[in-house]
Amino acid sequence: MRRRQRRIALLALPALVAGVLVTTGPAGADPTGSTAAAGSGRSQLDNREQARLVPIKLAGADLLDKVVAAGFDIEHGLKRVPTGIEGEAVVTAEQVAELKAMGVEVLGDDVGFEWSDEADGGIQGAAARAVQPASHEATVRIARADWFTTKGQGFLYVEARTTEGQQADPIVEMQLENDSGKRTSFGFARTMSRFVDSGQYMFHRNLFKLDARPNQIRVTSSTGGVTTGVVSDWLEDAPPPLTENRGYKADFVDGYRHPQQLYSRAKEIARQYPDIAEIVYLPNQTNGYQRKAQATIGGTGQAAVVVSSAAWGHEGGNDVTVEFVDRPGADLPLAAEVTGKAVRVLLAKDASGGLASTATEVADALRTQSQGLIDRSHPYRTNAGTGIVAPTGGPVALTDSLDQKRVGAPEGEVPRGPVTIPVLRIGKHRDGKKPGVLIQAQDHAREWVPATTSLESAERLVHNYKSDKETKKIVDNTDVFFILSNNPDGANYSFYNFASQRKNMTNHCPDATADPAQRNSWGVDLNRNYRVGSGHDGYAGGSSNCVSGTYQGPEELSEPESKNIIWLVEKYSNIKFMMSVHSNGGQLFWQPGAYIADGRITTPRPPLGDEAFYWQSAARILSQVKAHRETVVTPENVGGSSDVLYSSAGNVREDLYYTYGIYAFGWEVGGSVYNPATGNWQGGSFQPAWEGDPNLVSGHAETMEYANGIMEMFRVAADWGKDKKDPTSKLVPGNGKYREPVDVRFETNEPATIYYTTDGSRPTLQSPRYAATEFREPGQVFHVTETTTFNWFSVDSAGNIEKNYDPTKNDKRNNYRTATIKIDKK
Ligand SMILES: [Zn+2]
Repeated sequence: MRRRQRRIALLALPALVAGVLVTTGPAGADPTGSTAAAGSGRSQLDNREQARLVPIKLAGADLLDKVVAAGFDIEHGLKRVPTGIEGEAVVTAEQVAELKAMGVEVLGDDVGFEWSDEADGGIQGAAARAVQPASHEATVRIARADWFTTKGQGFLYVEARTTEGQQADPIVEMQLENDSGKRTSFGFARTMSRFVDSGQYMFHRNLFKLDARPNQIRVTSSTGGVTTGVVSDWLEDAPPPLTENRGYKADFVDGYRHPQQLYSRAKEIARQYPDIAEIVYLPNQTNGYQRKAQATIGGTGQAAVVVSSAAWGHEGGNDVTVEFVDRPGADLPLAAEVTGKAVRVLLAKDASGGLASTATEVADALRTQSQGLIDRSHPYRTNAGTGIVAPTGGPVALTDSLDQKRVGAPEGEVPRGPVTIPVLRIGKHRDGKKPGVLIQAQDHAREWVPATTSLESAERLVHNYKSDKETKKIVDNTDVFFILSNNPDGANYSFYNFASQRKNMTNHCPDATADPAQRNSWGVDLNRNYRVGSGHDGYAGGSSNCVSGTYQGPEELSEPESKNIIWLVEKYSNIKFMMSVHSNGGQLFWQPGAYIADGRITTPRPPLGDEAFYWQSAARILSQVKAHRETVVTPENVGGSSDVLYSSAGNVREDLYYTYGIYAFGWEVGGSVYNPATGNWQGGSFQPAWEGDPNLVSGHAETMEYANGIMEMFRVAADWGKDKKDPTSKLVPGNGKYREPVDVRFETNEPATIYYTTDGSRPTLQSPRYAATEFREPGQVFHVTETTTFNWFSVDSAGNIEKNYDPTKNDKRNNYRTATIKIDKK
């Protein structure tokens, strides 16, 4: 009889910690109203279009949180460096001064990402201070020691922890030494960087340039403790990519694509390859590439009146004019008259014939007497509107400002209004039985390379299906869903109006931030709008300020774009993998991705089996990226995103993993290419020149290399779907008699999670889970001092259980694993 294969879903995760609601301060905008435009026939444009990318450095995550909460746009391209966080801010000259006032270091334009001088290895480093190990029992553990090469240069990356790491006085120093290969001695001592996040010691770490691959490292702590570790390879020996297969076709995308182009190509692919492709339409239309027509008129400060049309600009709002009229005479009441789309407000006069209508009164009159043309009108920002309004000297045309194209915008008119997003579904068997993979690109509008990378991957699937065996295997064994742009409204705004747009186009702002000068700051950060570990639950990294770059929305899943993702994964429950593709940064993330700042309480850590599976998948995916042109995503940028970068409350990955058990990756493509000419890592940009330097920053090259990685993710999913093999595990050392206490740990032959007991009972899914010693470290070590029996079973990432044991049923077989460590002290 054929053995019944037992597979389970591993979702025995603890409930999320609820926390206090974190509130943020008011917008960083000027509340005085002193810059409000006077009536000039046209509302004044603000200066946000002059925003530019400015390299900055922050002392730590605390400052980052503050700066983001204040509404500054500094997401992405952020990098941990030994002395803090470096990145780029999208700011105006005025905002640069504000940043400096907050304690942000603004770097010169010529400063790229650079590690400290200590990183120049290979020769005897300076500052090699002698470390005196103390006699008490401080310990040092090495979490990672990775060797990799890129563009002819070797690098050693090390993470190590000391049990004294949190200690502040004195701060613990760690020295790293390496050998120069087998049977050579340790040397080249250097000081490691202490990494503290949200007040918590994380670990010490450094990236060092080295010319020869070391075999071992030694780490010594200033408070005692020394340990050695063996160096591993990171992405060395990358296998040849599919692009090297004979007849394999690639390089389909020849430039950036705006949403209309992406969607029309998706539909065309479905028509051309009906056997393996179709379109699935997402049910919630976007709120649209559209805005109300507006103007700020009537004076400055307390006299300014903000006017918004009831109709969208393209649906008549742009035809509305408003005029504030001074009439001859005295003792005249405030009144409004409407002719067609022209609104005339007849300003009140006092007994001596002076103008007498305040901004508040005029705003009220516009709302109530404009015959429905104006439905929102209020004083400027937080002003009380007590100033006397001045006549405009003629009609002022309201505008949605969407016709003001930015330099270099693509030809043609952009369709206004809500959009239905098509999902391109590719797979030979789209019956829900094959593992589904969701590729979701461009949540953030200005990130153009993720869209081209995803489209390139789709093209490769359909064009190579008939001719390439490996591609056929992918298409036959997976069910892929491409959302080529999940933020079409914002993306259009980025292409046509404001290149740095990050969020969608939905304006949730109250009057204080609803005037037209704020329009480039409206919108919801779609990747902060989800339900797990969200800002609404008190997690850090999402803002309640509607003009912040990380505005989380008025409530969880407030936006159609995020509702759609949940709809898709609920309708197609075979989706087991997800990649949220962003740029730029050269990072690959998973969970945990958010924490409550006070105490740094993260969302639950994935079980060790999932963690190992994530690492294994990441190595496969990133090896294929490297195979294209030697771009290395470094291990310090891989892992739980809140472990290696920052907390992003309410991101999509947390929701999909914790709610649905989907392996949910986040990817920052582009950026961080090692430049052998300068010896530095060079960061990328959101919209690099398409044909830029093919060895450094180029939209084309990034599209091709990261498409390699997405193709490998499909293979990971296909292999996962075919994995019917039980994992095996063992206790090391195992069964036996020992005269002394003994240190034991579990080992598995593949990524797998172990459930175990030590009290003789049968192990179940409620039993303790074998955990990591600490995050980013291998499994814990048990110090066994008395005779102990371990009962356990392991579950692999595909849900196969070792020996087909059924942990849910106490049947006669009870074929879990068991081992007894007998301590016979004699
Ligand atoms: Zn992004």
